[in-house]
Amino acid sequence: MIRSLKNLSYEEMQQWAVDEGFAPYTGRQLFEWLFRHFLEDPAEMHNIKKEIRSRIAGYGPLRLLELLRHKNSGGSGTEKFLFQCLDGNALESVLIRSGKRVTLCVSSQIGCAMNCSFCRTADMGFIRNLSAAEIIEQFIQVKKASNEKISNVVFMGMGEPFNNFEQSIRAAIVLNHEKGPQIAARHITLSTSGIVPKIREFAHLPYQFKLAISLNASTNRVRDKLMPVNHRYPLEQLLDAAKYYSDTTRRRITFEYVLIRDVNDSEQDAAELKRLLRHIPCKLNVIPFNETGASFQRPDEKDIERFIGDLENAVFPVTLRLSGGRGINAACGQLYHEVLKT
Ligand code: SF4
Repeated sequence: MIRSLKNLSYEEMQQWAVDEGFAPYTGRQLFEWLFRHFLEDPAEMHNIKKEIRSRIAGYGPLRLLELLRHKNSGGSGTEKFLFQCLDGNALESVLIRSGKRVTLCVSSQIGCAMNCSFCRTADMGFIRNLSAAEIIEQFIQVKKASNEKISNVVFMGMGEPFNNFEQSIRAAIVLNHEKGPQIAARHITLSTSGIVPKIREFAHLPYQFKLAISLNASTNRVRDKLMPVNHRYPLEQLLDAAKYYSDTTRRRITFEYVLIRDVNDSEQDAAELKRLLRHIPCKLNVIPFNETGASFQRPDEKDIERFIGDLENAVFPVTLRLSGGRGINAACGQLYHEVLKT
């Protein structure tokens, strides 16, 4: 992991200042310069002594990502950002505008080990975990490039955040911090493919971060094919953990359901979802598959409507996300492929 002061928490930054022979408030000032004002040049931190500024400069880089490519969807309010890390790897972030809400979707890993069959990130395999600093840096650089007031952050880009649990949580804590970007904890969502022990661990964190689970099937037979994680943590265990999370935190879960033609879009699937989720405080977010030349297909509009109609009397709310990024390939891993593999 590249050494950077941006990997330190508020408390650790104060300790760093003390270890360097300065007062703890220097660490507090530094935290604000980095995460509130997004400065990258210690020379601009005018209330910090020169001597300290040179230690800051000597510790490690404060800019961790360079923008390689920025793509606007042209009217849908979605923008994609492809960044290069200092080691040459690339990652992506997506900015989604919807009404007053501006959501940034961040990556937590380069590539992914989970091998979901409908996902292009899976084609890359797993390359490495991102540091907390690199996750936060996506927020900082997108904010600078877009000048948007980002209201929500979702960990739904490349990677499985629960396979990089510590760094993802560290990043979420800084994004939420009152001396940092101040994103409300309830506006920060971590999305998992279903790592059951981590869902239970997540339930006990003293933060009100939200949980999303990528469900995508109503039976083990189909989920086994779409998401290999299901062999390890089948639906029964996953839904038990989801119930445990909602019982423990009193927070509602979002289940994401990528709708794929002739795979998981039948009337029986809708009926089974209503049955499976009926005791879990949740909402179901249906996302018609974003076709990218994979072996799966998006259902046509009438089948999407029919599926949503089949869910009409569910005891949980159902939302349909028509991807604003469809025109710019805004599903995880897709911009990466477009830029780097073609
Ligand atoms: S869908 Fe998510 S968990 Fe599955 S391979 Fe893609 S990035 Fe990984």
